[in-house]
Amino acid sequence: MTYPPWVVLHVPHDSTVVPSDVRGQFLLDDDELRAELVRMTDHLTRSIFADPLSEAAVVHAPVSRLVVDVERFPDDADEPMAARGMGAIYTATSQLTPLRRRPSADEREALMRAYYEPHHARLEAAVASALERHGRCLVLDCHSFPSVALPYEGADPSKPRPDICIGTDDFHTGEELTAAFRAAFEGAGWRVSLDDPFAGALVPGGRYRRDARVSAVMVEVNRRLYLREDDATALAGFDAIARRIRQACVEAIAAWSG
Ligand SMILES: [Zn+2]
Repeated sequence: MTYPPWVVLHVPHDSTVVPSDVRGQFLLDDDELRAELVRMTDHLTRSIFADPLSEAAVVHAPVSRLVVDVERFPDDADEPMAARGMGAIYTATSQLTPLRRRPSADEREALMRAYYEPHHARLEAAVASALERHGRCLVLDCHSFPSVALPYEGADPSKPRPDICIGTDDFHTGEELTAAFRAAFEGAGWRVSLDDPFAGALVPGGRYRRDARVSAVMVEVNRRLYLREDDATALAGFDAIARRIRQACVEAIAAWSG
């Protein structure tokens, strides 16, 4: 069993690529940048969620979220995280220290044009293609999160975190989809929470709160399930865990879509 062909997997945060022409904007030395990439990357999420046997499209960001975060709203005025220096173009680290110098208007535009806009164009095209061929689409927004809250989250680092967080959108998720994902992951033996520690599910801008044929749900995996978090090395059981996570998603989608 695998994903139906109308599923679009969105993988925004698993790249560690910092292009050489952007590297000079950062205020961190190589060791500091490496440490920040270890903390902030959703390591291996493409390997976890994508199934080579499925026709489901996979739209993944080609550069690190530290270069451009495609999961944020493009305009800082709409993006709550911009107040912490973490809009689409971060100027602060996960430790709330300076990450990069403030980009000029031209640099910002160049970054958005090079990395944000093409990514969202690919996502819109994948969704449009699913709708055209199948009349429906589910965007599965694929993430992971650190087992201990990072300072930028503004969360209590002593608070225990679930194994799996399901993120929902009022318009695009719906109770049945939410319940199906919760049941599938709980059935696989994991502790699940809804919209905690991270909330929401990404929907491409052209469909957002407009097109009810587009459903969306976010799955966030606690990195302690599959990763040595201090150096981002996969744990020995990685393949088996990844398969279980994929299987839970596939089961949830099957249960929900009948
Ligand atoms: Zn993420």
